[in-house]
Amino acid sequence: MHQVTEENNSVLEVLDTVMDPEIPVLSILDLGIVRDVRVEDGKVYIAITPTYTGCPAMHLIEMEIRAAIAQLGQEAIVKTVLSPAWTTDWMREGAMKKLSQYGIAPPKRIAAMQHPVCGTPDPIACPLCASVNTEVISEFGSTACKALYRCRDCREPFDYFKCH
Ligand SMILES: [Zn+2]
Repeated sequence: MHQVTEENNSVLEVLDTVMDPEIPVLSILDLGIVRDVRVEDGKVYIAITPTYTGCPAMHLIEMEIRAAIAQLGQEAIVKTVLSPAWTTDWMREGAMKKLSQYGIAPPKRIAAMQHPVCGTPDPIACPLCASVNTEVISEFGSTACKALYRCRDCREPFDYFKCH
């Protein structure tokens, strides 16, 4: 984010405490959905881009952002920006590790993939034993943002955070 300045450091600090309701180990900064932060006339203008269109969590995230900024004694004006669309490439590098420790296979970096289209046949590694001998059980896991996989080696099912 080019908008990071001394002035909104404290804003960024509280935003880093706003967690994704679906993945409570990732903050909205980890996810990279915060596009712009501007402090003007005592108000904090925040632009966010939804991870997935129609993700019901976005409304909740918006309310949590307002509550977090209220802790600073400031008012947050949250704006949703749909274009350009969010991609998993915007996730912080450290977010991948947190996801995997949480038991969710992190998305493959789109930039690193050979195929420009998601749904690459590249195997998804099991977050538990790192085996790539895995199979997809359902394109929709516990939420629409995830797909359900199973590891053929350790037999454990796991969520894969779908690339986008
Ligand atoms: Zn496994």
